[in-house]
Amino acid sequence: MNNPNPDYDVVIVGAGNAAICAALSAWELGASVLVLEKAPSYHRGGNTYFTGGAIRCAFSGLSDLKILIPDMTLGEEDSIEVGEYSESQYYDDLMRITDGLADPQLSQALVSKSFNTLKWLQELGIRFVPLYGRQSFKVGNKHKFWGGLFVEAVGGGKGLSDQLFRLLEERGIHISYETKALRLVTDSWGEVKGVVCLSPMGEKEIRANAVVLACGGFESNAEMRTRYLGPGWDLAKVRGVPYNTGDGIRMALEIGAQSYGHWSGCHAVAWDVNAPNYGDRKITDLYQKHSYPFGIIVNINGDRFVDEGADFRNYTYAKYGKEILFQPNRVAFQIFDNKVKHLLRDEYRIPQCTMVQGDTIEEVAEGFGISAERLLKTVEQFNSSVQGGVFDPTKLDGKKTLGLTPPKSNWALPIETPPYLAYAVTCGITFTFGGLRINEKGKVINTEGIPIPGLFAAGEMVGGLFYYNYPGGAGLSAGSVFGRLAGANAAQHMKPTHE
Ligand SMILES: Cc1cc2nc3c(=O)[nH]c(=O)nc-3n(C[C@H](O)[C@H](O)[C@H](O)COP(=O)(O)OP(=O)(O)OC[C@H]3O[C@@H](n4cnc5c(N)ncnc54)[C@H](O)[C@@H]3O)c2cc1C
Repeated sequence: MNNPNPDYDVVIVGAGNAAICAALSAWELGASVLVLEKAPSYHRGGNTYFTGGAIRCAFSGLSDLKILIPDMTLGEEDSIEVGEYSESQYYDDLMRITDGLADPQLSQALVSKSFNTLKWLQELGIRFVPLYGRQSFKVGNKHKFWGGLFVEAVGGGKGLSDQLFRLLEERGIHISYETKALRLVTDSWGEVKGVVCLSPMGEKEIRANAVVLACGGFESNAEMRTRYLGPGWDLAKVRGVPYNTGDGIRMALEIGAQSYGHWSGCHAVAWDVNAPNYGDRKITDLYQKHSYPFGIIVNINGDRFVDEGADFRNYTYAKYGKEILFQPNRVAFQIFDNKVKHLLRDEYRIPQCTMVQGDTIEEVAEGFGISAERLLKTVEQFNSSVQGGVFDPTKLDGKKTLGLTPPKSNWALPIETPPYLAYAVTCGITFTFGGLRINEKGKVINTEGIPIPGLFAAGEMVGGLFYYNYPGGAGLSAGSVFGRLAGANAAQHMKPTHE
C-alpha cells in the first residue's frame, strides 16, 4: 500500500559510512532523504571516523588503482609494486578466514561490487591515496604492497568522514543530529512506513516510503556484549563511539527480522592497556598495536599464547583481541628488539603508548611486573627454536620456529638485540559480527525468509559476512557496497516501475 503522506521517500538511521553511502545513492535516484543521527554534530561520524580509512577492494593491477587515484604521478607509479587482488582472491580470503562460513551470496556481492563502489565514491569526490605506511614495505627502491589492501581515504577515517559529510551537505541532504531512532512504524500489512525517534524536541514519528538502518552493531552495549559474546566481554574497551548499542538490530528484530551471522563473534584487537573506555577522537585508531608479527606476545606470567606470525597481520589482528581478553588481568605485552624497531607502525610512536624500554629482558619484565624468570626462559626457548631462512615482511616468508608451542610460523627472528621494547595491551572491541539478514539488494529478510517491505540495512549491523575473523579493510568496503545498494533500492521501493 502506498504511504498516503510520507515526510520523506527514504529515512536513513545513522550517519557513518554505510548510512551516508545509502543517503547519497538514494538521493542520486531522486529520492528525498533524511538522515537521523543519535550523536551530536561534534561527535558525528560513527566508528567510521575512528578508522584508518583503509578500504579493501578487488583490482586487476596498477591501471585499476589509477582509476581510484587519478592524481598518482609517474614517479609514484614507478616506485610501487602492487600486483593484483582479484575478486576470487578477495572471496577466497573471506572464506578462508571465516572457516568457510561467510554467506556466499553476500560475499559474492561484496567482492564483485567492491571496485565499482570505490570508483563511484571517487567520482563523487572522495579522494584516495596508496596506503604506504601500513600496507607496504620498502624493498630496494620499491614500495611493495601486501595483504590485499592498497587504498585509504585521504585523511584516514577522519578524512573519509569529513569528505562524506561534505557530499551530503553539498546536496542539501538534511542530517538531524541528537535524534535517536526508537522503533519502526509498520502498517497492518507489516510494511515499514517510518520510524519513531527521540530528539531534544521530544518524541516524533517520521513517515517514509522506506527506512534504511545503518546504525552499527552492539559493540558499545556492555549488557548485549555479555549476553551474546559471553562473560568477560563487558570488560573490553570499546575502540569507537559509545552510540552503537544495537538499537537498529533490536528495532528490526521487534518487527520480525531474521537474526543472522556470528552473534557470539566480534572484531577485537590489541589496544593500549591505558586507552580510555571508548574511542578518543584525537587519537582514533592509534591505540591499536598491530606490529606483533615482528616480535612476540606474552602474558603477565611471561608465556606466549598465540602464533604471532600465523598470517599477514590483517588476517589475524581482528581475532587476537579475544585471546588477550582471556589472559590473566586481560593484559598482554608485545616485545620487540631493536633490529625490528624501524618496522613498527606509526601507532608505536605516539606519546600515549604504555611502553617500557630496557637493555635487558629482565629490565623490561620488571618494568611491567611480568615474571622475569619465566620471560627469560620464554625468550631463550623462542630464540633457540628459530629456524634459518630469509626474513621478508612483504610475504609469508616461512621463517619459523621449530618444536615450540605455540609456534611462530613466519617472520621469526631471535630477540637478542638491545634495547628491548615492550608495549602493554588489552582487548579493544571494534564491532560485532551478528546482526540482521539482508539479501543482495540490502532488503531485510524476515524469519520466514521473505523481505520486509520498506526495510533495508547496511554496515556493521548486517550479519553473515564475518565469522571468527575478518580481513582488514572489509568493514568500510561492505558498508559502502551494501549502503549504496540499500539506498538505491530504498529509493526505488515505492516507484511504480518497481516489483
Ligand atoms: C578504531 C577503529 C578502526 C577501524 N579501522 C578500519 C579500517 O581502517 N578499515 C575498515 O574497513 N574498517 C575499519 N574499522 C571498522 C569500521 O569502523 C566499520 O566497519 C565501519 O566504519 C562501520 O560503518 P557503519 O556505517 O556500519 O557504522 P558507524 O560508522 O559506526 O555508524 C553508525 C552510526 O549510527 C549511529 N546510531 C546508532 N544508534 C542510533 C540510533 N538509534 N538512531 C540514530 N543513529 C544511531 C551512531 O551514532 C553512528 O554514527 C575500524 C573501526 C574502529 C572502531
